[in-house]
Amino acid sequence: MDIKQNIQQIRNDFPLLSQTVYGKPLVYMDNGATTQKPKVVIDAINDLHASKNASIHRGVHFLSEQMTEMYENARRRVQQFINAEHSQEIIFTSGTTGSINTIAFSFGEQFVKAGDEIIVSGIEHHSNIVPWQMLCERKNAKLRVIPFSDSGELLMDEYKKLLSSKTKLVAVNHVSNALGTINPIKEIIDLAHEVDAYVLIDGAQGIQHGNVDVQQLDCDFYVFSGHKIYGPTGIGVMYGKEKLLYQMPPYQGGGDMVECVSFEKTIYNQLPFKFEAGTSNYIGAIGMTTAIDYIESLGIADIAKYENELLQYATKRLSEIDGLRIYGTAANKISILSFLVGNIHPYDMGMILDKMGIAVRTGTHCAMPLMDKYEIEGTIRASLVFYNTIEEVDRLAEGILKAKSMLE
Ligand code: PLP
Repeated sequence: MDIKQNIQQIRNDFPLLSQTVYGKPLVYMDNGATTQKPKVVIDAINDLHASKNASIHRGVHFLSEQMTEMYENARRRVQQFINAEHSQEIIFTSGTTGSINTIAFSFGEQFVKAGDEIIVSGIEHHSNIVPWQMLCERKNAKLRVIPFSDSGELLMDEYKKLLSSKTKLVAVNHVSNALGTINPIKEIIDLAHEVDAYVLIDGAQGIQHGNVDVQQLDCDFYVFSGHKIYGPTGIGVMYGKEKLLYQMPPYQGGGDMVECVSFEKTIYNQLPFKFEAGTSNYIGAIGMTTAIDYIESLGIADIAKYENELLQYATKRLSEIDGLRIYGTAANKISILSFLVGNIHPYDMGMILDKMGIAVRTGTHCAMPLMDKYEIEGTIRASLVFYNTIEEVDRLAEGILKAKSMLE
């Protein structure tokens, strides 16, 4: 779909966007943190609660069987969305963080031993740093970090030097949430495989911006969150290659992840249920696939094209502002603008923009090591998606100029 031509109709799909904040029309540019939900998703979730709710897998009654079928259809829909080979490779979790912690524990238990190395990059979200630090502490393994350039691009030659027979896993993001950099993940994966290391891709910011094909990428794990792709919160996906998931022990014990329990011995359930202990967020999973249907109906490539137009325009507009510095200028990036203006504290700028109805994020964006490298406390981040407009970018630029004149 031509997004630009249909922008008003698309914006009408998102009820939240039409409100005013402090008497000003809302400009929502905090999409990196969470995206707004189209009415189809809100309606689907309402309908599930209103007329279809029943706990899955354990019931013989109509509603339970119906919901079980819808939940398993959601799994197959995600399988198709990322082109996984088998539906049992799709595990529903609470989100990206839940998925990474599951893998760090479960993969870590089975595959990581003292002296092994885990590689992350310098532009990771804390969610893709801390679980690996915890694993390294438990196992006496070592965390290595891929450095990055001033423009926010990973130094691939340095990455190659870090890889060795000790490397057990490489965990990098598809797209940096703080800078917008799109990482060369195919190359990262292939290089890791040359030394027999496994690869996890944190797709929290990547899944919605490009057609992800896990078989073509050949990644061992790919994880993402529902709420960043216009779906509900509290639901996410952990994709893992079947042969690895088979070998990995469960992360949590409880109902649904077992086949047979006695005090002498418990037999775990098969995939994917082995990793889905307790009552799953089945309504979230189905709601997330409604969101996937929605973005696919717009066209992922068309979304990317329009968002890139927004990025080019916003980069130009913001660069014209005296004293404004953009962090993250990679050649290949998504529509995220992280910036500082003169000596103005990001929090002050964010507060004033808020009073103009403009929602941006300020701070470290859960990427403190990245801020350390730039020797800054944080940035102001405007993350634009397909429901943002050129006029909104103009309002952002005007807002920054006004705030600047007030604060300097
Ligand atoms: N990884 C990246 C790159 C992110 O941007 C985020 C959230 O901002 C996360 C991980 C964590 O996602 P969640 O909080 O949905 O688990």
